[in-house]
Amino acid sequence: MAYGARSAPCRASSTCRSTKPSRKRRRRVITDVCLCEYTSHGHCGIVEGDEILNDVTVAHVADAALSHAVAGADIVAPSDMMDGRVAAIRTLLDERGLDRIAIMSYAAKYCSAFYGPFRDAADSAPQFGDRRSHQMDPANVEEALREVEADLEEGADIIMVKPALHYLDVISRVKRQFNQPTAAYHVSGEYAMLKLAAAKGWIDERRGMLETLTAIKRAGADIIITYYARDAARILAG
Ligand SMILES: [Zn+2]
Repeated sequence: MAYGARSAPCRASSTCRSTKPSRKRRRRVITDVCLCEYTSHGHCGIVEGDEILNDVTVAHVADAALSHAVAGADIVAPSDMMDGRVAAIRTLLDERGLDRIAIMSYAAKYCSAFYGPFRDAADSAPQFGDRRSHQMDPANVEEALREVEADLEEGADIIMVKPALHYLDVISRVKRQFNQPTAAYHVSGEYAMLKLAAAKGWIDERRGMLETLTAIKRAGADIIITYYARDAARILAG
């Protein structure tokens, strides 16, 4: 079930909101909004034949975002890359009086080899075709800038570049050109490379991790999404 109070993101959101944070800082809940975890074929939308139906998918994605917000999410993050989904989510949230809920859009999501470990873990590799029809060509920067601009015009509060490490130039261009809150997703394959090299004794993991996250920050990211979040937070907090 992609949405509704019993879906995994909704239950997780309301649990996060109802349990007390260990420190005084208020906890923020961000949910990933997509359908690919819930489709038998693993694509991010409703499929007819071998085509993903954009507008039908967008309506479901907006319903999913609404259910996450109602359950307690502070920020909803659509990751599907369908056209028009940010505007559809914004409109639906505002209609329901949830204008305080922010949207972080996966604006520039590249078709990357570095999603591999996550896809295996989530068992979400598409069973036919691939996501090339709606994920971007790694060689193309201009398309990323157009996608970011479109998402900002539709009402995105935070725009994201994914992956991070192999797209530092894209992060930099996006930050410089739009000067908006910019997130970067340090993806599972990028993380796995460091873990494996550290496990082999080839690099110092702590230094490699901090150097990597520093590079992403230096490129212009205001927010870094990384599997190292807990380790990095511990080190940075001293
Ligand atoms: Zn998806």
